[in-house]
Amino acid sequence: MSKLPLPLNPPVRTLMGPGPSAIHPRVLAALSAPTVGHLDPYYLQLMNEMQDMLRQVFRTENPMTMAVSATGSAGMESAVVNLIEPGDRMVVCVNGVFGARMADVAGRAGAEVTRIDRPWGQVFTPDDLKDTLAKVKPKVVGIVMAETSTGAWQPVPEIAKLVHDAGAMLIVDAVTALGGVPIEVDAWNIDVIYSGSQKCLSCPPGLAPISFNPRAMETILARKTKVQSWYLDVTMLAQYWGSERVYHHTAPINMTYGLHEALRLVLEEGLESSFARHALQHRALKAGLAAIGIRYAAQEGHQLPQLNAVFVPEGVNDAAVRNGLLNRFGIEIGGGLGDFKGKAWRIGLMGYGARSANVLLFLSALEQLLAEQGYKFDHGASIAAANAVYAG
Ligand SMILES: *Cc1c(COP(=O)(O)O)cnc(C)c1O
Repeated sequence: MSKLPLPLNPPVRTLMGPGPSAIHPRVLAALSAPTVGHLDPYYLQLMNEMQDMLRQVFRTENPMTMAVSATGSAGMESAVVNLIEPGDRMVVCVNGVFGARMADVAGRAGAEVTRIDRPWGQVFTPDDLKDTLAKVKPKVVGIVMAETSTGAWQPVPEIAKLVHDAGAMLIVDAVTALGGVPIEVDAWNIDVIYSGSQKCLSCPPGLAPISFNPRAMETILARKTKVQSWYLDVTMLAQYWGSERVYHHTAPINMTYGLHEALRLVLEEGLESSFARHALQHRALKAGLAAIGIRYAAQEGHQLPQLNAVFVPEGVNDAAVRNGLLNRFGIEIGGGLGDFKGKAWRIGLMGYGARSANVLLFLSALEQLLAEQGYKFDHGASIAAANAVYAG
């Protein structure tokens, strides 16, 4: 018989990558509360409370607001497979990994996909979409609000207006956006929006908050074909999340406890305070990095506070720095993906991780590792610059 593995003893990391983000101790405690059944009156009450809190963070009145029992990508898949019937036209805006993923998901769902591409790190303006929308006349347009592969912050309101003027519906990927930057689902008239539990909501991965507006629900109820995915069919899920409570699949009870507590934390702090905290930490980090000559990858004026993608400086070994951060300082940051592979670092300041202790710890560890690589900079300058931001 093989030897019994050792009991769990995960290292305590400072998670400053593109997700999962740092988890608040109250969320970890909530996860270990006793499991109840998925039709237990206590659980049903939690579901109602969670829907209500999700509506507050999404800023929507949409009745069909819930959490898909899977990660952010399943939120993406849900948005697409419910709106798209085979042969429907969908336009997807691609300026990084996650836009490309949405185009892939749409193609697999049977959509006739048209991609609009922008260089990595850049955002879309209405002008970039206008001609394609007029020519293609899509049923659905998809766009990523916070492109985690580049750190680009996509403005949504004007594009939402253009999409609706063209008679299409809008899907917004808010996986990294939700909780970190302002989102107004109703005011911006977003038809379907989805997120993930493990980015700025600071809950472990495993749930995907999602919201369908009444127009999207009418379109789905009027489909000629069944939703291609049984698991993600929102018309069936609506009967469990709605008053009927019809069994669909066994809800991930303890993950719901975790997200419930994570949402309570966000609302306890207040959305506006949370956005302001993310913005402050971003300014401090950015000032620190600028002081040692490190440049951002995303377009100026459109840089996400919660995801700081920066170029690896010339002559510095990407892997050596990231390994040093992890192995010597317990800090995880992300490497570059796709076009940015080997060229960028992605530093997350998400949710509970967006705090001064993390920014200052990261900058001092980074300085140490850069010095060992022979990179020339003014030692201590990053910490002084970050502290100057905190001092106002
Ligand atoms: C993380 C992320 C996803 C995918 O979420 P998973 O939880 O990894 O499935 C999708 N879109 C964006 C913008 C993301 O950052």
